[in-house]
Amino acid sequence: MSVGAGASGLRLETVAISAGRPAPIPDGPLNVPITPASALHAGGASGYARAGHSPWEALEEVIGALEGGHALAFSSGMAAATAAISLLPRQPTVVAPEVAYMDVRRSLLRLQELGRAQVRLVDVTDSEAVIAACDGADVLWVESPTNPLLGLADLPRLCAFARERRILCVVDNTLATPLLQRPLSLGADVVVHSATKAMGGHSDLLLGATVVRDDQHRHALHEAREMGGATPGALETYLCLRGLRTLPLRLERSQANAAVLAQRLSEHPEVHEVRYPGLGSHPQHDRARATLAGAGFMLTFRVRGGAARADALVDTVQVLTHVTSLGGVETTLERRARYPAERGIPEDLLRVSVGCEHAEDLWQDLQQALEATQRPA
Ligand SMILES: *Cc1c(COP(=O)(O)O)cnc(C)c1O
Repeated sequence: MSVGAGASGLRLETVAISAGRPAPIPDGPLNVPITPASALHAGGASGYARAGHSPWEALEEVIGALEGGHALAFSSGMAAATAAISLLPRQPTVVAPEVAYMDVRRSLLRLQELGRAQVRLVDVTDSEAVIAACDGADVLWVESPTNPLLGLADLPRLCAFARERRILCVVDNTLATPLLQRPLSLGADVVVHSATKAMGGHSDLLLGATVVRDDQHRHALHEAREMGGATPGALETYLCLRGLRTLPLRLERSQANAAVLAQRLSEHPEVHEVRYPGLGSHPQHDRARATLAGAGFMLTFRVRGGAARADALVDTVQVLTHVTSLGGVETTLERRARYPAERGIPEDLLRVSVGCEHAEDLWQDLQQALEATQRPA
């Protein structure tokens, strides 16, 4: 499933389990323990936990090894994205996806409102449009697959292009995870993660990460974390590392479930426009096959009967759960257009984050919910 071996030569499935362990000491723990601390004894490299705390490093080592760079953990995905934004030069021109995680877009547009950046929103699935918009730009911010429409950028081409033009290239790799694509190996400068999602995997923590190769970027991000104060919590880093150990296993299952649901939904008369990168009908299906090591755990579909039917459906499911967020072991769904900040999302579109339950139970639940809800007369 995974796209490559870590620096150790081990496959990523093994790296997820073997990296980030304390040195073996007889009767010492196999895992790095939770260590709540602000004050640290003087004389070390950090001196105060806001400047860095060694128990976080186990998690950072694993994320770094998976992505092929140096990782830093942050208090949330947005904290990591905000730190990445701090790498931007003064008054930058930023090319960013029109449809992507709404709060990242809002942050960039807020900078523009304040006169601190020029933002050019583009369709990231259209490489020619992205490349044209990059003329004179300082930063290319990509998310692929995009949240929530699951559009796919031609990441190998765009990363190579940005590198050649010396445009800072930031990739939000939350939906793909390093098991499906590794942007740093394609030439991206910064990878951003909401580890809240698939990395943590159990819907019980907020955490983010940046991963870079360049030492200057690494130092700048470290300073952004220390000065901005968006440090991760002790419990969160512990839980996230615990979750990461099973990311390959969870992804295998959730991806297999997603493929089954996508196929069956696409044959259901009450459903239209199922989007899943693994379906031949996905607008970038060939790109998915060429650039992703798997089709992922997210899908979207539209119900016949508009927003009202979609709202009724999320209230009718019993195995699936109506919540936002994604990437957990639980299958969740929501009508994304209910958020006023969303753009270009059809009113009747449901986003599903497929989890690790039995596929037949998920399918029966969707079927009963489609049956129980009616199209308005
Ligand atoms: C959720 C999400 C974020 C933000 O992460 P938080 O951990 O919620 O702050 C950023 N990018 C993508 C693609 C996301 O799905």
